[in-house]
Amino acid sequence: MVCECLLHPGKEETMKRFYHEGEKSNGICKSCRTEVTTTFKSTTLALASGKGKVQGVLAAVCDDCGKVVAVPQQSAPRIREALFGKKLSVEVRVPRHLRDVLLTICSEITSDCKPTEIEPFVLRYYMAHIAHGRIQIRSLKKHLKSKLLQGRANDRLSFRVSEEVLRKFEKKIETVKLNRTDAIKMLILQAKVDLLDKAAPGRLKEIVLFASAA
Ligand SMILES: [Zn+2]
Repeated sequence: MVCECLLHPGKEETMKRFYHEGEKSNGICKSCRTEVTTTFKSTTLALASGKGKVQGVLAAVCDDCGKVVAVPQQSAPRIREALFGKKLSVEVRVPRHLRDVLLTICSEITSDCKPTEIEPFVLRYYMAHIAHGRIQIRSLKKHLKSKLLQGRANDRLSFRVSEEVLRKFEKKIETVKLNRTDAIKMLILQAKVDLLDKAAPGRLKEIVLFASAA
């Protein structure tokens, strides 16, 4: 069949198959150790990493023993949703002027929404870059002497970040003996250098793009 879609008209069609609940199929059941007939059912899958379970995943279930025989491609996004969905709350106290630095950065990134809505994206962007080693944590220590770090911590930052990023971030900051609050303060100072002092437009765009994924 020739494809009729707008993206690649005239090309050979490869239609993605989507199964529905109650549909029959067959496969090799590991538990029954033979070929069996299966029925697609909504199931609760245990994640291979041992990080919990995902509910409402369509899977081909053995008609004899009820064990999952196969998980179709169409269920992958739901599993991914569960993997990425887990975010933890982070709360740190910072001096008001440092919060002003962050809010100014957010205003520079976009004027389409409230600065406070952008805050988590900027923080997650930098935390993820530290977590994955794309920014060296050691390089942040140059901010330790900044006057902006001083002052009473009379403002509060509160945001959510993925469990995995937070765990890796904490590991990285531990290696240079920084606590979470000080490390986040230094991220703000690094963002100031990158986005306000140098005003790199490419970086701004990258942050906004990354914002949708973090
Ligand atoms: Zn079976």
